[in-house]
Formats: sequence, C-alpha cells, structure tokens
Amino acid sequence: MAAPIRTCIGCRRTAPQAELQRYVVVDGRATPDPSRRLPGRGSWLHDDPTCLDQALRRGAFSRSQRRQVEASGLKPPPELGREGRNR
Ligand SMILES: [Zn+2]
Repeated sequence: MAAPIRTCIGCRRTAPQAELQRYVVVDGRATPDPSRRLPGRGSWLHDDPTCLDQALRRGAFSRSQRRQVEASGLKPPPELGREGRNR
C-alpha cells in the first residue's frame, strides 16, 4: 500500500507523510502535532528549519489553512522525526 503523499508547505515538494511533520491550528496558532491525532486540517512540513523558515516567510500556514494563522515564534521541533541526536 502506498504511503500517503503530502506537500511540504515550505519547499512545496511532495514527500511521504512519514517524512513530514504535521501541524494543526489550535486557538489560531500553528501547533506541531507529533501524534497526528489532533482534529482539523493539517499543514505538512519537512523536519527541516529551512522549510519552516520558508513557510513562515510565505505565510504558508495561513494559506494552507485558508485562514489567518499565527505561526511566528514557531520553532522546528528537534526531538521530532529523528532517531536520537546526531551532533
Ligand atoms: Zn520541505
């Protein structure tokens, strides 16, 4: 069975859902949803600060959610989507 494909709202490339972080809007703010169980429309983003930066500069959260979304101050979640720390 093919993995669901989503488009990263930062770099606009498509990727299997498993490679992307899901964000939903809670109280008007973009919020990471590591469990992927929160209700609502999801915005998908690579676990990559560059993609997050691009998404913030383009207002991609608001566009993908089709409403005003507060996303400033959003940080890339370093503990998500990575096995351990490689540094
Ligand atoms: Zn991306």
